[in-house]
Amino acid sequence: MSAAALDLQSFYPPDFKILGVEETNQEIIIHMHSVSQECSCYKCGSPLIKHHGSHHRNVQDLPILGKRVKLDLQIFDYECTNPTCDPHAVTETFDGFLTYNSRMTERLEEFICILAIETSCEACARILKSMNVKISGDTVIRLLSKRYLSQPKPACGSTIGIDDFAYKKRHSYGTIIVDEKTHDPVAVLDGRDGESLKEWLRQNQHVTTVTRDRASAYAKAVEEVLPDCMQVADRFHLHQNLMDAVNKVLGRTVPATTAVPCETEPIKNKELSTSPMDEGKKNRIYCG
Ligand SMILES: [Zn+2]
Repeated sequence: MSAAALDLQSFYPPDFKILGVEETNQEIIIHMHSVSQECSCYKCGSPLIKHHGSHHRNVQDLPILGKRVKLDLQIFDYECTNPTCDPHAVTETFDGFLTYNSRMTERLEEFICILAIETSCEACARILKSMNVKISGDTVIRLLSKRYLSQPKPACGSTIGIDDFAYKKRHSYGTIIVDEKTHDPVAVLDGRDGESLKEWLRQNQHVTTVTRDRASAYAKAVEEVLPDCMQVADRFHLHQNLMDAVNKVLGRTVPATTAVPCETEPIKNKELSTSPMDEGKKNRIYCG
């Protein structure tokens, strides 16, 4: 197969027609327009065939040989005529390729999520930057959160563990809930003040045992929503309590600097010593 046989159109859905391609040192821009004749309403699911208008959208796709790929798309808006549905214009979507109002293709989102899970959000953003994909660490987190919300909710047992984690240290925090029997995460909630936890517990009244950290926010939330639930301080935080207590006692009873007498051989040459005080200094070591 010759190089000229590579068909760019075959990499895109048949509902898109390529109008032209531009290339710069950093970027490849592909101009396409939709040729679809129908789509379905995202509210009521009705098939739609009446065009309401069209609009431009710039979408980022997987890079080609290190060059950023920007799709300049002309997309149709359809009109939902179902009398039981709110009258509204519906922007068309392309299953498996582009979702509603998305600024990047689904295959690029998939690649970013896999890379982030295998490395970290910040490392993922740095690697993508070297591949000329424009994205920030915060956007990677948003993509992962969006993917998490679209997953079916896992079953949750009656014994759970609750702890907090930082989306961005000293700025934003979340709460993670883990099934203690399967050790699988079952929910990730915004904030760590206990409000989102209360809402989650109201929908999971079957929970009977909670292991948690030492913070009072989770304790109060569980006490308020599930007063009969057993609360257990988890092993990590019990160890942390113990170490804090030991450090406090040592801090009170042991001085910061202690002089320890050291047994050494007597100095034979008395002339080395100029005074009894200097001799004393030579026979003593200091411990911090
Ligand atoms: Zn509709």
